[in-house]
Amino acid sequence: MEGRIQHLAAIIDPALPPYTRRAFTEPFLRGRRWLQAEFEAAGLSTVTDAGGNLMGKLAGSEPGALPIAMGSHSDTVVGGGRYDGIAGVVAALEVAQSLAEDGMRPRHPLWVVDFLAEEASDYGPSCVGSRAIAGTLSPAMLEAANAQGESLAEALRRMGGDPDRAAAGPIHGREPFAAFVEMHIEQGPVLESEGLPIGVVTGVVGIRRLALRVQGQADHAGTTPMHMRRDALVGAAELIKLVHQRAREAHTHTGLVATVGQMTHSPNQSNVVPESALLTIDARCASMQGVTDFTDAIVREGGSLLAGHGLALEHTLVLDAEPCSFAPPVRQAIGNAARKRGHAFREMQSGAGHDAMHIAQVCPTGMLFVPSRGGRSHASQEHTTTQQLCVGAEVLLEAVLELDATLPLR
Ligand SMILES: [Zn+2]
Repeated sequence: MEGRIQHLAAIIDPALPPYTRRAFTEPFLRGRRWLQAEFEAAGLSTVTDAGGNLMGKLAGSEPGALPIAMGSHSDTVVGGGRYDGIAGVVAALEVAQSLAEDGMRPRHPLWVVDFLAEEASDYGPSCVGSRAIAGTLSPAMLEAANAQGESLAEALRRMGGDPDRAAAGPIHGREPFAAFVEMHIEQGPVLESEGLPIGVVTGVVGIRRLALRVQGQADHAGTTPMHMRRDALVGAAELIKLVHQRAREAHTHTGLVATVGQMTHSPNQSNVVPESALLTIDARCASMQGVTDFTDAIVREGGSLLAGHGLALEHTLVLDAEPCSFAPPVRQAIGNAARKRGHAFREMQSGAGHDAMHIAQVCPTGMLFVPSRGGRSHASQEHTTTQQLCVGAEVLLEAVLELDATLPLR
C-alpha cells in the first residue's frame, strides 16, 4: 500500500505544488492508467463505467449476486496531499488482492472503485462519479463548463464515461451494490488526539451555506465624523465574531461548527469608509435542524446588531446539503471487524463530504476513518503511517468478509 501511495505521489502536475493530480487532467489519466495496470496485476478485471469510475472486479462464487464495492478517489485538490482518497483506493485494492492471492472467493463479486472527481471539479460539481452511480448527476451539472469552455459532459467522455447514460439515472440501476464501504483518512485531529486507530463513521453532517451582504455607505475617510459613519467592514467584523461565539456555544450541545471563510469588501480603498461587505457562512451539524436554527439565529441577531450601526443585512441561501446517516449493518460490520482484530475504535461523524454519502442513496453504505497526522488534510503535510494504513485495511477486509457472509445475495 505504501509503495502504491508513493508511486501515485510521483504522478502529479509539475506546474502545481507538491501532490496535485486534478481530475480530468493528463496527470490524472496517467495515474489512472497506472492504477488500472495495478488492478489487473492483482487479478482483477477492469472497466471504466458511464460515470468515468475505474473499477476492478473480483468474481464471486454465487452467480447473479450483487457486488460488494469498496473504494475512494485518486484525484486531489490543488496543493493536496498523498493520502486523501488514495489511501482508500489502495486499501480496497489490497483487500481484493489479498483474497485473490489466498484463492478465497467471496460469495458476492468484490469491486474496487476509483470514483471520478470527488473533489470539487473545475466544472463545478464534486463527486461526479459517485453522483452518476446515485443517479443525481443532473443535465445542468453536465452542461456546466470549465474556464476553457469545455463542458463536464465533454470532459466525462474524455475520461471514458458516457454523459447521456449518466444523465438518465443511476448508471448501475437502482440497486447497484449489496453494500459499499469506503476507507478514508480522517482529515481532522480527533483519532490522533484520542490515540485511536479506527473511526466508525456514523454519517456525514448536513451543510448550509449562506451568502451575506452588509450594506453601509461609502464616505470620505478624513471628513466623515466617527459617529456619522455606516462602515460595512465594522459590521462584518461584528458579524464574524457573532458567528464564532454562537458556534462555540452550539458546539458543546450539538457538535455544530461554523466558519466565515470568504469575504470581499468594496471599494477596498485606504481612504474610503467601506460601503459593502460580502461574506459566507458555512455551518455544519449532524442534524439539519441544528444548522437551520443556527443560521436563523445569526440572521436575526446579526440584523439587529448591524441595524445599531446603521447597516443593512441581506442573506441568500447558497447550499443546503442534507445530512446522511450510514447503514447500521455496515457500521456494525466495521465495528465488529475492529473488535475481531483487537483494534480500539470510536464512532464519529464526518464533517467533510465523501463519495460514500452519494452511494448511500442507492445501497447500504458505511465508512471507516484512519488517523491523519496533526489532523492535516488538503495540504502537502497530509500523513498517515504505514502501520495505520495496515490497521485500516485489516478492518476493511474483515468488514467486507462479514458483509459477504451475512448480506443477501441479491
Ligand atoms: Zn477524499
